[in-house]
Amino acid sequence: MEIKRRKTRQVRVGDVRVGGGAGVSIQSMVKAESADVKAVVSQIKALESCGCEIVRVAVKTFDDADAIRLIKKRTNIPLVADIHFDYRLAIRSIAGGADKIRLNPGNIRSRGEIAQVIRAAKSSRIPIRIGVNSGSVMSRSQAADRRPQTDNRKPITENRKPTMAGHLVDAALGYVKLFEDLEFRDIIISLKSSDVASTVEAYRRIAAKCDYPLHLGVTASGPYDSGIVKSSMGIGALLLDGIGDTIRVSLTASPIEEVIAAKRILSALGIRRSGPEIISCPTCGRCQVNLMKIVSELEKRLYAIRYTLYANRFATIALMGCEVNGPGEASAADIGIAFGKSTGMLFKKGKIVKRVKAKDAVRELIRNL
Ligand code: SF4
Repeated sequence: MEIKRRKTRQVRVGDVRVGGGAGVSIQSMVKAESADVKAVVSQIKALESCGCEIVRVAVKTFDDADAIRLIKKRTNIPLVADIHFDYRLAIRSIAGGADKIRLNPGNIRSRGEIAQVIRAAKSSRIPIRIGVNSGSVMSRSQAADRRPQTDNRKPITENRKPTMAGHLVDAALGYVKLFEDLEFRDIIISLKSSDVASTVEAYRRIAAKCDYPLHLGVTASGPYDSGIVKSSMGIGALLLDGIGDTIRVSLTASPIEEVIAAKRILSALGIRRSGPEIISCPTCGRCQVNLMKIVSELEKRLYAIRYTLYANRFATIALMGCEVNGPGEASAADIGIAFGKSTGMLFKKGKIVKRVKAKDAVRELIRNL
């Protein structure tokens, strides 16, 4: 199925184009303190080598802002400064060479301060992300929820998700209006909630109301396993709608895992292939080899090589536990093995290549990729 992408304006973040028909870019955020240049540079280099295309750093002090100049000199991918509360940190980050600024409408609200940031962004020709989070619009939402019980209107608690989505959209559009009044349109918007349904609803609504590119993410999605599920559902649903121009998977885990998860989401939707995809059966009583062990070993081997040797090469690798569906699935994949008892038939592009021992399966697959 071909996904029809939403038409948007295009902005440039360093040399990465976002929106306007550009591919969906992958971003992550450094988890070290920005003033610790050595640690930040090391993390950015690791992120870059595994496929991260835009990276964000938290700027909470002037030391962090001043570190941007040094970080930029030692790294290659576009650098985004994440700003909250103090507009002067944005201006200092721009002076240091930041490629994009993220502002939070929930905590930088003065028109005069925003105007100064916009002036600096314009003169450096960099975009600004209007990054709305549910946490920062929560106070207004909670105020609405606390309406007196005697109020005859429908209780907001019956309709909490659309209400949160509405707050996110209103906050973003209010900020957008301010930017447009100041004749600034190099804007990217994000509307993140830790609630998947609210996030999806908010993005769908704003996608219908403006043509700015959208940065997708489910915020504070949680630890690795549940975070991957929430992010995949939220980001995946939107991408299938054709919504979304750049993505960040937020996990309470290494940022490398965020990038790998983002790549897997894009790959699963056929938006962007990155390295071989493993198709393997769940196994059942018919399986006579230790398929879980074989798949796990293959995954580890591919992990070690997928971002180097095979970074731009797509292959489906099928590992099937028996002859019921095995030969069909394995022969439909680029390469695969359908196992019998302690051996398997290795297929390549639909043709039987040879019989291999189960203990040699991973080595044979890698050798024949
Ligand atoms: S392919 Fe075979 S082993 Fe795997 S789940 Fe299906 S029937 Fe079971």
